[in-house]
Amino acid sequence: MELNRPAIEGGKPVRANTLPYARQSLDDGDLDAVAGALKSGWITSGPRVEEFEKAVALKAGAPQAVAVTSCTAALQLALNALGIGPGHEVITTPLTFAATPLSAIYNGAMPVLVDIDERDLNINPDLIEERITSRTRAIMPVHYGGAPVGMDKILDIAQRHGLMVVEDAAHAIGAKYNGRPIGVHGHAVCFSFHAVKNITTAEGGAIATADADLSGRLRSRRFFGIPADAWQRAASPKPWEYDVFELGFKCNMTDIQAALGISQLKRLDSFLTRRREIVGRYDLEFSQMEELILNETMPGAESAHHLYVVRIRPERFKVGRDSLLAALRAEGINANIHYKPVHMHTFFIRHLGDLRGRFPVCERAAETLITLPLFPAMTDGDVSDVITAVKKLVEWYRA
Ligand SMILES: *Cc1c(COP(=O)(O)O)cnc(C)c1O
Repeated sequence: MELNRPAIEGGKPVRANTLPYARQSLDDGDLDAVAGALKSGWITSGPRVEEFEKAVALKAGAPQAVAVTSCTAALQLALNALGIGPGHEVITTPLTFAATPLSAIYNGAMPVLVDIDERDLNINPDLIEERITSRTRAIMPVHYGGAPVGMDKILDIAQRHGLMVVEDAAHAIGAKYNGRPIGVHGHAVCFSFHAVKNITTAEGGAIATADADLSGRLRSRRFFGIPADAWQRAASPKPWEYDVFELGFKCNMTDIQAALGISQLKRLDSFLTRRREIVGRYDLEFSQMEELILNETMPGAESAHHLYVVRIRPERFKVGRDSLLAALRAEGINANIHYKPVHMHTFFIRHLGDLRGRFPVCERAAETLITLPLFPAMTDGDVSDVITAVKKLVEWYRA
């Protein structure tokens, strides 16, 4: 049988135009909501932020949520408000975006990396305890790709060692663990509403928590350390009075962003349904290819399907992963990599020491993984194109 020549080798590409790996879904309702905020006369933090926080809290199953400018700010602020600073250590995964370990460093604390589980690419809870020292204050798990970490083990370790659990749930709004939403398990659960995430406010984040004292500190410290926001002061009898009570930052969300968030959050369930459908089709096709490894879903975990990640078995291919990524792009499929491990970046090598070789499962995964396009606005034809392109390249480059 004549094989189908890849576009990168001069063949005809699967697609004429390029399919991105992620794209936001904005409808007329979203646009109207933003316009409504702009026309309302109050565009920075105001009633829409409060309404958005209530909606996020409801979705996350938490009594309260505090909205900020990004998930990075959420993580930084959460650690800060939990009293984590110089001399302290925070345990996290090397397979994450730089924001996760940076949030500890911004506070003067040190991130301590623990290798991942090869089944779901999440931090391996069984390796955490051996890294706990007298300086450890928190565990910061990342729900990689939207698939929840085994929280039972994490919470048990945290309780036995008196540690805080700050979840990086940037991928995981709408995910569940043991039937309960991501948002109820840890002390502080941080979401991202960046443009590529499962819902968006363009840029934005929030911290869900059941701790009322913590949420009070978060509200104060997201706005200079002033205990109430400006628009709440506007309603008080002496609106000119304010007190900088403690050291705070400036990372409050605007009502423009919150208006978009309120509208997007109403669409989250339909987004998740569509993501699940696409993942179902991918799984069906790719699980039949012996050249590929799919992530496993762990007991109790219900993914928000933020990323679709496959790993190649390098010994089954005549070319390396990067050549396959380039070949996919030539077919019009913008695949991606999540992530270059934390400890491989120049800054972290300088700051943490050279840890290359220390997290073999993570390094092996990072060298072999490919993130395929996954977003709710993908058509069935787009999904077919991804499957066709992957099949074509597997057949052509099979060793
Ligand atoms: C996107 C992301 C962040 C940062 O989110 P921002 O809202 O862009 O600050 C943090 N952690 C992970 C795992 C992410 O993917």
